[in-house]
Amino acid sequence: MDNKRIIIAIDGHSSCGKSTFAKAIAARLGYIFIDTGAMYRAVTLYAQENGAILNGIVDEERVEAMLKDIEIDFRFNAQRGASDIYVNGDLVEGKIRTIEVSNSVSAVSSIGAVRQMLVAMQQQMGRKGGVVMDGRDIGTVVFPNAELKIYMTADAMVRAERRYKELTAKGDNVTLDEIYENVVSRDKADMSRAISPLRKADDAIVLDNSYMSVEEQMTWFDEQYQRVING
Ligand code: C5P
Repeated sequence: MDNKRIIIAIDGHSSCGKSTFAKAIAARLGYIFIDTGAMYRAVTLYAQENGAILNGIVDEERVEAMLKDIEIDFRFNAQRGASDIYVNGDLVEGKIRTIEVSNSVSAVSSIGAVRQMLVAMQQQMGRKGGVVMDGRDIGTVVFPNAELKIYMTADAMVRAERRYKELTAKGDNVTLDEIYENVVSRDKADMSRAISPLRKADDAIVLDNSYMSVEEQMTWFDEQYQRVING
C-alpha cells in the first residue's frame, strides 16, 4: 500500500455504524481512529454530573463556564483495538453511551463554545494525517480539505434496531421505541442546528449501509481508497 497518509473524514446520521466502519478502516491502514462523537458525549456527561443539565434541560451558560475545567484525552486500549476517552484523568468510555447522555448530547453539541473547543482539539489531533475521524462536521468544518470524505446513512429503523441490540446486550433497560425516537430526533437536531449542521460535503461519497455487512462495506471502502491514492 502507498505510504501517503491521508485524512479520511466520515460523517453521517446517528447510529449508522460510523465508528465500527472507521475503526475497521483505521486498523486496516494502520491509521489513528478518532471518534469525535465520544468527545461531545464526554462533555455532556461532565455537564450532567456537575449540575448543568437538570431534567434534560441544558443550562448553556453553565456548560460554557465549565469548559475550562474539562480536559479530554484518548488513550489506546490494545484489547479493544481503539482509544478510550478520559475526562480529567477518569475513564468515561463506559458511561457516555447511555440513553441519558444520548438524549442531551445534541443540545450540548449545538453550543458554539463547545464546538470551538472540540474542533480545535480535533484539528490538532489530525494535523499530520494518517487519521480516520468520524462525526457530523468533519468533512465540512474540521477538515474541509480531507482527501477522502464519506457520508454514511442507513434506514432509521435499521439503525434503531442495531443500537437496541447493542444496549440490551450490555444490560441497559431500554425500549426499541425510545431508541428510534432518539435516533430520529438527534438526526433532526444535528441537521437543523445553527452552527455546523450535519450535511453532506459536496465532495463526499455516500455509503448507505442499511443492508450491507461490515465485509461488504470494507470492499466498497477499498475501491474508494485506491481511487484516491492512485488518483
Ligand atoms: O457519533 P455519536 O452519535 O456518538 O455523536 C453524538 C452526538 O454528538 C451527535 O448526535 C451530535 O449531536 C454530536 N456530534 C457533533 N459533531 C461531531 C460528532 C458528534 O455535533 N463531529
